[in-house]
Parts: sequence; C-alpha cells; structure tokens
Amino acid sequence: MNDAIRPQPGIMDIALYVSGESKVAGKTEVLKLSSNENPYGPSPRAQAAFAEAAASLHRYPSTDHAELRAAIGAVHGLDPERIICGVGSDEVLQFITQAYAGPGDECITTEHGFSMYPILAHAAGATPVTVAERERRVDVDAILAAVTPRTRVVFIANPANPTGTMVAEADLRRLAEGLGAGVILVLDGAYAEFAGDFDGGVSLVEEFPQVVMTRTFSKIHGLGGLRIGWGYARREIIDVLNRIRQPFNLSLAQMAAAEAAVRDVDYTRFCATENARWRDFLRNGLVQMGVACDESFANFVLARFASSDEAEAADRALREDGILVRKVGGYGLPQCLRITVGDEAACRRILGVIATFKGIR
Ligand code: PMP
Repeated sequence: MNDAIRPQPGIMDIALYVSGESKVAGKTEVLKLSSNENPYGPSPRAQAAFAEAAASLHRYPSTDHAELRAAIGAVHGLDPERIICGVGSDEVLQFITQAYAGPGDECITTEHGFSMYPILAHAAGATPVTVAERERRVDVDAILAAVTPRTRVVFIANPANPTGTMVAEADLRRLAEGLGAGVILVLDGAYAEFAGDFDGGVSLVEEFPQVVMTRTFSKIHGLGGLRIGWGYARREIIDVLNRIRQPFNLSLAQMAAAEAAVRDVDYTRFCATENARWRDFLRNGLVQMGVACDESFANFVLARFASSDEAEAADRALREDGILVRKVGGYGLPQCLRITVGDEAACRRILGVIATFKGIR
C-alpha cells in the first residue's frame, strides 16, 4: 500500500521562478524596468480587438488558432501549418520539453541562460545540464562537448536573456550540424525583433529538421499581460506538439489581440526603432560613467558594475528613486543589473540616478 503522496521525481528540484518585481516599499509610483516590457504598450489596434472580443465571451475559441496562425504566417512569410501557438512562449517551450525529454534524458542550457529552461527540464522528469559561457556569450563548442547519448534538447535564446548577447548564425549552424538530427535545438527568439536584420532562426529551421524556433507577443508587441507565444518547426514536430496541447489553450481575446498586433507592422517597426535608439543612448551613457555594458541586441541592457556590492548599492539608489530594475545574481551575474530599455524619459532618468550614484553630478 502507498501511504504517502509524493510528487514525481525532479519536481522538488525545481527552484521557483522569480519574476520581476512591480512594487518598491514606500513608493506609490514606480518606474518598472525589471521585466523587459514594452514601454509603449500594445498597438491600439490590439487593444481595440481585445475590447471587441468582449461581446463573444460566451463562445468557445477556435482550437486550431487558424486565423492567428494565418496572420503570423502572412506577416513573417511562414507556412501557417508549421506554426503552433501557446500561452506565452513559455508554454511552447513546455510542449517541446515535455514531448521530447523525459526521465533519464538531459536538456542542455547555458550558464546565464533563461531560468525557465531548467524548470521545464525538471518538470518533464529530465536532467538539466548547464554549460559554461564565455564572457557572457553562449559557447557553442562547450555545448557540443557536453552532449551525451542522453541529450535530447538544447536551449539557446538568441538574443539571450539576461545578457543581451547573440550567437552568430554560422556558430548556430555548426551547433546544429554537430548535434545531429536526434537532438532538438530550440532557438528562443523572444527578443528577435529587437536584433535588427534578424529572422529569429527561420533560416536554420528551414535548413535543419531538428531546429525549433519560439517567439513571443510579450516583448515587441507589448502583450505580456495577455500571454501569447508561438513556435515554428517542420510539420512533423508541430504535429507532435499539438498532440499534447490543450485544445482551448488560447482564449478568444488573446487571439483577437495577437492577430491585430502582428498585423500592425508599422507599430511593430516603431517599437523596434525606438528601442534601438534608446538602448544605444542608455548603453553609451552607462559606459561613459564607467559602468561596463556589452552590446545588447534585445530590449534591455546588462549593466556591469565593479563588484556585486556596487551593483547592490546602485540597485538601492535606483529603488530610492522609485525605479525597479532586475538583479541577476540568480543568473550567476551578481555584479550586474538588467535594465529594460524604457522610453526616452525613463532612460534619461536612469542615467541621472546612476550619475548621482557615481558622484558625477
Ligand atoms: N524566453 C526568454 C529568453 C524570455 O526572456 C522570456 C520572458 N521572460 C520568455 C522566453 C517567455 O516569454 P513569454 O512566456 O512571455 O512569451
């Protein structure tokens, strides 16, 4: 007889996900730059579509997301039959891990990689294997050296969170070739739209049968609160993922807003252009004040202070001004603060606080 309920192996190894804070003690107004949210909000068309969906809330949503997939396919030039949608890209990443990894298998993630990857590996009963990075950059050779016959999934965010760095396409190609057809290579493009002339990994999906790209509406489309993401892969993989997807995983309102958002290409372009402009401004300002900052390809910068004590002190100074950024000690970067690129006023305000903190003015 079983006399105790217990969770599946691996579940108690999961360190709970810590999200960006939204409150500062003693402050009523907070400038939140801790979760890489879009400072301009969603497209007004997405907001209107969301409001319009309210009239149909008694109807079940479509189970196949056909209209949303058609919109994504049209805008990105992709076959809608090879797209899957999920509750945030987190859910798509979960489908992949659950479908392709299990007890006894290994999932590779990297030293400063996104914290959901090991959580998803454990949740699938698999073992996460963490590979060292080189100067906050994913090291493709180190990943290849860590592959074993048990490796099933490799996760790479490109651009990466929280470092903002990118792996060159030639290196990814070398990685995909080295991994071979039996290991899923996830190219997580949550921040792809901020990287300029970058397809998020589409060309590698076309080239290699085992490459899967994931994308999100949470960042460039400013819909983090609605939770919509998608994945792109060859049909056989999408078919596998659809078998474990709940039929009604996306609501009517989610799909309506996402479809309007992706079709509003002018607004998408506006968000990307503004981000690039103020990201450079913020980074240059920090560097001029002696705060190191790698080039970022995302919608945040990683400010690297002289020590973890200095990073802590800078974080306190920002909080005193009502500004929330992200401490990334949990990502093995205790000297760093990850700062979301806000609008012009937000970036100027951050630089002002850091200047005072550094005793510059
Ligand atoms: N991948 C990366 C690298 C991320 O930073 C995030 C958001 N923090 C996600 C995926 C998940 O985003 P969402 O579930 O909101 O699509």
